[in-house]
Amino acid sequence: MASDRRHRPAGHESRVFLAALLSGLPAVLLAEGLLWFGSFSLRTQVTGSLVAAGTWLIGSALVRERVLRPLQTIANLLAALREGDYSIRARGASVEDGLGLALFEVNTLSETLRSQRLHALEASALLRRVIEEIDVAVFAFDSAQRLRLVNRGGERLLGQASERLVGMDAAALGLAACLDGETPRTIDAAFPGGAGRWEVRGSTFRQDGLPHRLLVLSDLSRVLRAEERSAWQRLVRVLGHEINNSLAPIKSLAGSLRSLAEHPSRPGDWEQDLRSGLQVIEGRSESLGRFMGAYAKLARLPPPRLAPVRIEQWVHRAAALETRLEVRVREGPRVVLSADGDQLDQLLINLVHNAADAALETGGGVTIGWRIVAGVAEITVDDDGPGLPDPGNLFVPFFTTKASGSGIGLVLSRQIAEAHGGTLVLEPRPRGHRGARACLRLPLGSL
Ligand code: ADP
Repeated sequence: MASDRRHRPAGHESRVFLAALLSGLPAVLLAEGLLWFGSFSLRTQVTGSLVAAGTWLIGSALVRERVLRPLQTIANLLAALREGDYSIRARGASVEDGLGLALFEVNTLSETLRSQRLHALEASALLRRVIEEIDVAVFAFDSAQRLRLVNRGGERLLGQASERLVGMDAAALGLAACLDGETPRTIDAAFPGGAGRWEVRGSTFRQDGLPHRLLVLSDLSRVLRAEERSAWQRLVRVLGHEINNSLAPIKSLAGSLRSLAEHPSRPGDWEQDLRSGLQVIEGRSESLGRFMGAYAKLARLPPPRLAPVRIEQWVHRAAALETRLEVRVREGPRVVLSADGDQLDQLLINLVHNAADAALETGGGVTIGWRIVAGVAEITVDDDGPGLPDPGNLFVPFFTTKASGSGIGLVLSRQIAEAHGGTLVLEPRPRGHRGARACLRLPLGSL
């Protein structure tokens, strides 16, 4: 196209030629007039006329050429850029004169385009590499649900090479169901490369103006198995510890009581020994029972039954239930939450109980306050206690630093908060205050 344009009779070139001719015309006419009306021989007149006319025409053609050449060079350079060849540079580029400046700008443009293309190539190579290497299956489908792109994870999942997969229909690949429905969601499915639980994420993107679907499948089974295993290990460790704590004294007491019973001559106060031994056994069995009960509570938290809960009533109720010290309430805005009142009571009672335990150690106090931040109710329970032990352990089930603690208060409270779409954290109190702060955040909107 560009070459067609260049070889067409160009108006600009003709105009330059004409302008050159016109600018020389008066001088030529004058020379011709002087020659023909002067007293010269015919030979001189003819020769002079030819020389004058010849230099006039050649000079005008040269001017036309000087203007045309650089324009052709610039056009060729721009055509090369359009074709994607960024290696060609114009000679004579300088900022001193007009033409040099134009060539300089073309060279700079070419350099900019070259580095931009390099960046784009590097970025897409990196993206391709990441997509290839990530441990999830990535598929892109066109508007006719035909596979356009698949990464190595996708090849593994479908058990075939991408050359065979690309172009196939989503239904034929067994992925049609994954393309519809809400995202993200979890499904149980079997593919040629493996069966298990998968997280399905889908989104749309446009290519060449047409809608495409991106589908990402990640294997949850492995992660879940690892999580499950570590939860079991933790549980078995805690259960083992707790059961041993109760069984060891029961076994030793049972042994001493048996030898007491078998002994032919019992000491005078044997009945007292028997009674206190049985009492310890009873006490340990009860504590074991309580422990198992607490565990059952943790494992069987029912889904929240939502109803209106007035924050100020809830906070005052929990504060009043703590009888060992007076809990201060810092009033906040009166708002109504949609929540399970019983569960929220249990949650706040746990937090206040912990704060009071801590405050009693140092003779300090406990304060509950609340405020609303960006549609979220933020309830804080502050204490002047000794501060937090290793924060990494606080929410581990059965972690306790108290002689009669169960270690499930915080885990249960966090479960309740999360079941309401909220969060619960324990942190040191801000701005150099002594003690800890439990911060509960619950969304005000519909749960
Ligand atoms: P429990 O109160 O039965 O020990 P929790 O799960 O409620 O169980 O608490 C776990 C541990 O977290 C407590 O034993 C205590 O060490 C720590 N903890 C909780 N709240 C506070 C607090 N306000 N200040 C200091 N330590 C705390």
